[in-house]
Amino acid sequence: MASQEETFKKMVAHCKEYGFVFPSSDIYDGLAAVYDYGQNGVELKNNIKKYWWDSMTLLHENVVGIDASIFMHPTVWKASGHVDAFNDPLIDNRDSKKRYRADVLIEDHLAKFDEKINKECDKAAKRFGDKFDREMFVQTNPRVVEYAKKRDEIHARFVKALEANDLAELKQIIIDCEIVCPISGTRNWTDVRQFNLMFSTEVGSTADGATKIYLRPETAQGIFVNYMNVQKTGRMKIPFGICQIGKAFRNEIVARQFIFRMREFEQMEMQFFVRPGEEMKWFEYWKEFRLRWHKALGLGDEKYRFHDHDKLAHYANAATDIEFEMPFGFKEVEGIHSRTDFDLSSHEKYCGKNIKYFDPELNQSYTPYVIETSIGVDRMFLSILCAAYEEQPLEGGDSRVVLHLPAVLAPVKVCVMPLVKKDGLPEKAREIMDDLKFDFRCSYDEKDSIGKRYRRQDAIGTPFCVTVDHDSLNDNCVTIRHRDSMQQQRIPIADLRGILANELDARQLLRKLL
Ligand code: ATP
Repeated sequence: MASQEETFKKMVAHCKEYGFVFPSSDIYDGLAAVYDYGQNGVELKNNIKKYWWDSMTLLHENVVGIDASIFMHPTVWKASGHVDAFNDPLIDNRDSKKRYRADVLIEDHLAKFDEKINKECDKAAKRFGDKFDREMFVQTNPRVVEYAKKRDEIHARFVKALEANDLAELKQIIIDCEIVCPISGTRNWTDVRQFNLMFSTEVGSTADGATKIYLRPETAQGIFVNYMNVQKTGRMKIPFGICQIGKAFRNEIVARQFIFRMREFEQMEMQFFVRPGEEMKWFEYWKEFRLRWHKALGLGDEKYRFHDHDKLAHYANAATDIEFEMPFGFKEVEGIHSRTDFDLSSHEKYCGKNIKYFDPELNQSYTPYVIETSIGVDRMFLSILCAAYEEQPLEGGDSRVVLHLPAVLAPVKVCVMPLVKKDGLPEKAREIMDDLKFDFRCSYDEKDSIGKRYRRQDAIGTPFCVTVDHDSLNDNCVTIRHRDSMQQQRIPIADLRGILANELDARQLLRKLL
């Protein structure tokens, strides 16, 4: 069986071959950590965005959307803390000349202890069978206890160093843990330095004195600076939320793992404004709601977990990540943060205007507290593809590559195929397609054998294929083939729309969230 790493590589190649994701500026050999979405990728991405947008704005009457600009007044980033504190701790290996995030090197090292513990548990589980008590084993097995002790010690030092912003200690942890560069295999490390992740550019001609501005590193600030506009014009009452989907830019140093960490990416963020003191209730609500949103896609409940932050950002009083099990481990896909009144208070200070909310029920003005949900569209896209991609052996030694995409998200919903390219079958197939195309994204394929055509659709995750054969001309029936089970059913053409509408009904997905 192929290793997870090999499968991941194949999936990346598959994304390019089937028009999901291309390297940016491909004919110039690409641009590091920047990617373009192809004809199928853009459909999948749009469907993810629609699922998110609808779950926010249709299911919550107190959540509305906006679309703010990428460029913002430079003081926004002073107020938000990004100019002073949006840094990554970097370390270079002198032999390979490769640069790493010091915190990521340590986190990866910590994760290895968990892997070792899990391995010991798996081995013991096999040995003891049904009698195996994992909790007891973890507490008593000397080797596991030793691993856990070491992990906890390093973890405690790591958290303390992050909190104190102690770069020398971060380096010392790397040295003490004997962490080596994955490329050179050596421990020849430089000191750890801070590096600001924001891209800057200039507006106005230099002759007039150009102003330095930033490409936004998160969409959230566009929401904060518009909070008063939306609250007043929409007559919103607390609690209420504002959501937005848009591009964000970060000068990521270590760009790895395909579209997991990009320099230009897209975020779906929501800021939910609440009464001070009620933030924990809403933090819990959004945590659970967001996890349901993920799980409703049916990619496997065991692939998700919450991970509470080791170090809270300067603005947060609670924070958790929703992690997804990628082929390279559990990784953050979404962050849920309780941001207190940090952003609004800071903007109020910097802009010098009163942006407090008057609460008519309490007859009192206050700066609202904020719960944020922030998810990367691209990471979500990657997690779906990782879960959906399968190289499936078939009976008779054959095999197929199939994307088990949730049907609602699939780029093409149905492919209509005439069995042969003659005898009036293409005309009949076109007639069916012309009828369906207003409701579902359809494609038409008459080239090659039916088997090959099915494989092509499997490879892009099309949930249904509809075949028109000679009998169809007389009995007005077609064969519908289901992607995952590969089962085929003969059905009247008149029933087709109803069957598809039922299977592809986004409302069923949304209903699972309530
Ligand atoms: P990480 O620790 O992986 O750098 P983060 O904690 O800085 O991520 P947030 O600032 O909380 O990320 O951003 C919210 C979401 O935006 C993340 O959960 C992720 O899905 C997405 N995201 C952040 N940075 C990137 C990136 N460079 N490329 C793609 N998506 C990203």
